[in-house]
Amino acid sequence: MKHPLENFIRDVPDFPKQGILFKDITTLWENPYAFKQAIEALYDPVQDLNIDKVVGIESRGFIFGSVLAERLSAGFVPARKPGKLPSQTIAEHYALEYGTDSLEIHQDAIKKGEKVLIHDDLLATGGTAKAACKLIEKSGGQIIMISFFLELTFLKGREKLANYNMNSIIKY
Ligand code: AMP
Repeated sequence: MKHPLENFIRDVPDFPKQGILFKDITTLWENPYAFKQAIEALYDPVQDLNIDKVVGIESRGFIFGSVLAERLSAGFVPARKPGKLPSQTIAEHYALEYGTDSLEIHQDAIKKGEKVLIHDDLLATGGTAKAACKLIEKSGGQIIMISFFLELTFLKGREKLANYNMNSIIKY
């Protein structure tokens, strides 16, 4: 059955390159009703997990991620593209369709044993989220849940994250 919030997501063909159907959630963010409903849906399954830190993945993972952190009375940690964070960082490289990319967090952002929720807007192949998992594990954090708003199931990112608890609200 179609999720009611799907109506607020805009499909943009051939962005950022030919052949990609981009799921644009700015059209959901700009609607106050849909924004609130999306937060409720993301918050509900994680509210009782005693999360210490929410790690949001640059940049669309920052929007819901920071609101979730506030709702959970948790801290917020940005996982950023290389060279953006000002202090000492740890980095993790990962493969893209063509070439590689990397993610960084501040080395002191997550304390040993802290319970972490990772959030990104969309799960595609899972490479990005897997890199975020490695950063948290290097820091000694405990990954309690990985939360996505959208999941492109045909790209099988879930298989790459099989060792973790994960949740997504809308599946395509
Ligand atoms: P992946 O590492 O393949 O799981 O890619 C996930 C990252 O790429 C997320 O941060 C998404 O925001 C972005 N992404 C990948 N594919 C799409 C898509 N079709 N529409 C919107 N964002 C996408």
